[in-house]
Amino acid sequence: MSQPLSHPALSAADPELAALVGAEEQLQADTLRLIPSENYVSAAVLEATGTVLQNKYSEGYAGRRYYEGQQNIDQVETLAVERAKAVFGVEHANVQPYSGSPANLAAYLAFAEPGDTVLGMALPMGGHLTHGWGVSATGTWFRGVQYGVRPDSALIDFDEVRDLARKERPKIIFCGGTAVPRTIDFAAFGEIAREVDAVLVADIAHIAGLIAGGAHPSPVPHADVISTTTHKTLRGPRGAMLMSRASHAKAVDKAVFPGLQGGPHNHTTAAIAVALREAAAPSFRDYAHAVVANAKALAEALLARGYDLVSGGTDNHLVLIDLTSKDVSGKVAAKALDRAGIVVNYNTVPFDPRKPFDPSGIRIGTPSLTSRGLGTDRMPLVAEWIDRSVQAAAKGDEDALTVIRGEVAELMAAYPAPGLPTA
Ligand SMILES: *Cc1c(COP(=O)(O)O)cnc(C)c1O
Repeated sequence: MSQPLSHPALSAADPELAALVGAEEQLQADTLRLIPSENYVSAAVLEATGTVLQNKYSEGYAGRRYYEGQQNIDQVETLAVERAKAVFGVEHANVQPYSGSPANLAAYLAFAEPGDTVLGMALPMGGHLTHGWGVSATGTWFRGVQYGVRPDSALIDFDEVRDLARKERPKIIFCGGTAVPRTIDFAAFGEIAREVDAVLVADIAHIAGLIAGGAHPSPVPHADVISTTTHKTLRGPRGAMLMSRASHAKAVDKAVFPGLQGGPHNHTTAAIAVALREAAAPSFRDYAHAVVANAKALAEALLARGYDLVSGGTDNHLVLIDLTSKDVSGKVAAKALDRAGIVVNYNTVPFDPRKPFDPSGIRIGTPSLTSRGLGTDRMPLVAEWIDRSVQAAAKGDEDALTVIRGEVAELMAAYPAPGLPTA
């Protein structure tokens, strides 16, 4: 039996809630978490989020606050800002956005008026809701025009992007996405944005850690604004940052506060600073490259087992599996994998004939398993578990899923992570 973590005050004050936290700790310990936007933060990041910095109100920016008592908070935020500038090589950083979606909304507020045209990647092609997709505020308050990928290669069609940009004259062009397994060509986007005088926002939410660790090219020379979450491959707390050239600093800062937000979440800011210090260490480069090496090894092992991968493989942390040839839908497969202790999400594939609530694909990624220390030698086994689970899903073989769940838990017990109960 594994040792539960102790949260003495929480357990005494609210046993019901404490039990749920304990159950989640056990779930994260026992399962193979393959959702590409998730991770395990370090013990230091976890501690920083649980500090008394949580108790403060600090509207404004360091040295320009609307509240007194900011002697320490100003230094915390300045540390986070300076570390972000150093890690990403940018002139300006704002570390206050509450999460990725509000950070992107701040970019709209800074550089467009309601009703203006924005150009982004379509959600079913791998883009994010906030890049002007219809059900998002960004697609109703702004006129979202969407580009996709080529049907033959599943790669971004830059002829289409250029044609749309010339015809529609967007105020903002978004690049980056949530289900893009290939390198983003920031230079190509930058050239198109300059030609049509649009602001290029590089949304690096998924790949920020890979960029920080030198495992993906940087958007810095090409993008006017860089938007990122801090909790995906960057392995920080749930939060976000907007980075830019100095010339856009005022517009960005004004959009975040007072444009969209009130007080910053100082405990999150502190944890972002800690994560950025970790991201500047040589070991983070190893981590970022290991994430990509694991994803490539996993893709190879899946291809060898006859799986169709969108774009044929991966350059980054993410693999998009098209299950059409396996006679099982993405949702049925994802739910079966969950019962086998392998956590993924179902996802549309480009040109998906199925509906988004039961699409043809599943999306997997390697940030979490890499943080737990699994290496490329383990990826054939991960592919085998996925394959056996998908086959069990097709046959409705619950017993096979239970067996896999046991095998997964046994292996994962050998790979501890901060915040998890230990065997
Ligand atoms: C995750 C993500 C976001 C949104 O982040 P939230 O913190 O979930 O609001 C924005 N853009 C991209 C590309 C993402 O992957």
